[in-house]
Amino acid sequence: MAQTERTETRSEQEPLLSVENLQTAFFTDKEVIRAVDGISFDIRRGETVGIVGESGSGKSVTARSIMGLVDTPGRILDGSSIRFDGEELTDKTEKEYRNIRGGDIAMVFQDPLTSLNPVYSVGNQIKEALRLHQGMKGAQATEEAIDLLEAVGIPDASRRVKEYPHEFSGGMRQRAVIAMALACDPELLICDEPTTALDVTIQAQILELLDDLQEKRDLAIMFITHDMGVIAETSDRVNVMYAGEVVESAPVEELFANPRHPYTQGLLKSIPGNQPDADRLETIEGDVPTPNEPATYCRFEPRCPKAFDDCTRVHPEGVEVNADADDHTAACLLYPEDESREEAVAVHDRRGNDEEVTNE
Ligand code: SF4
Repeated sequence: MAQTERTETRSEQEPLLSVENLQTAFFTDKEVIRAVDGISFDIRRGETVGIVGESGSGKSVTARSIMGLVDTPGRILDGSSIRFDGEELTDKTEKEYRNIRGGDIAMVFQDPLTSLNPVYSVGNQIKEALRLHQGMKGAQATEEAIDLLEAVGIPDASRRVKEYPHEFSGGMRQRAVIAMALACDPELLICDEPTTALDVTIQAQILELLDDLQEKRDLAIMFITHDMGVIAETSDRVNVMYAGEVVESAPVEELFANPRHPYTQGLLKSIPGNQPDADRLETIEGDVPTPNEPATYCRFEPRCPKAFDDCTRVHPEGVEVNADADDHTAACLLYPEDESREEAVAVHDRRGNDEEVTNE
């Protein structure tokens, strides 16, 4: 998946999914949690976009927002936009959303048992998806369910189609869930930590399977994970999230070769084997804060080894990391790196003020 040439060609295409200034907040008696706070990114057909960050960074709420699955007391705030194939999704009714969800956009969750019903055979569950989204019934649906199980690498599919989820191993269950998602013939597949619960060899097989399926079906994939190693294997481009914001965005090779945001640098240093000379594995001290007020400062500041005074007073906006970069942004006051520190801070200050005026 991660091929530069393909990324360059893809980047000229119209995005299939375009998320702009997405803000999703949860309103409790005590506070407002701004789980996703003004993020923007695109996904094109045939492209895999990775969303990476620690727990609490807002990755899964982003996915649920796109799927129209934000539960009360949460909601998507005014001024947010999610466009899919040119259509705005944020103003769809629940009924309209039901056709999109599981149809044009399908999701694979971390735990396959969340998606599989234990009292129905795997085949019947795939057939139900085929009936709902493609109008297939009877022998035609059974045949298609068997084909889908074969497509996701389940051996002896004509026998296993009649089996129940508990008769499948963990890896096979995740394959069955992917088959169910494909039964809807989606254009965009959102994978939320789909391999986290699996052991390493099975994880590699599932990643390979997703890669194959993407190639055959020109699927767009949004891949959510906390694991930088998985991102390196799956993604064409990467958005790094921290406390509800995208703090760095770049094509995958560029991000790994030249990480700019101190948070991304910390994530990469904490991969086992990435610092062979170090005695101990580096970690990022502290936890992701709960974003419960509009950010007027850098949310990473308490954990940042490069923090300076202005970081507590100016909110970093996503800017190109230098004048030559045309596809690598970081939300950090150290950038653009070819400006003086003072001028770089002023760029963020001005950008933040402009956005405030636009949002009013
Ligand atoms: S803005 Fe300041 S605190 Fe935030 S990441 Fe950059 S250097 Fe660190």
